[in-house]
Amino acid sequence: MVTSQDCLNKYGKPENQNNMIVWTVPPTIQIKTVPQKIYCNKDMLVPLSKAFFNLIEQGIQDELKTWDGCFNIRKKRGLTSMSLHSWGIAVDVNAAWNGLNQKPTLSPKFVKCFIDAGFEWGGTWQRLDGMHFQLKSI
Ligand SMILES: [Zn+2]
Repeated sequence: MVTSQDCLNKYGKPENQNNMIVWTVPPTIQIKTVPQKIYCNKDMLVPLSKAFFNLIEQGIQDELKTWDGCFNIRKKRGLTSMSLHSWGIAVDVNAAWNGLNQKPTLSPKFVKCFIDAGFEWGGTWQRLDGMHFQLKSI
């Protein structure tokens, strides 16, 4: 799993916002609930493009009900280490139905679209975080 130390080593301090870009999502992979411009790490472009493409190809893009953010400098909720959102390499979706320590409601097919695109899912962690996807490697 990518750690906050890995991110510090590669990107530096979150405050510097190194490697962050405003990504304009190409029209062919736009999903109506996802912003057309996403402020994220440049390392997210390929995996996130793939994830959106997979959702559309599978015809399940409507399962993405809410986009709950990418870049956000903060600690992991209730913990001391920094969340990978601090470096813009994590996204949250459908937060209202996939709260921390709650049984995730995302379909296996939906999750697979992200896994196949290079993400790790928080819904299998001991501390369930079903809304959360982060890059599997950087
Ligand atoms: Zn998250």
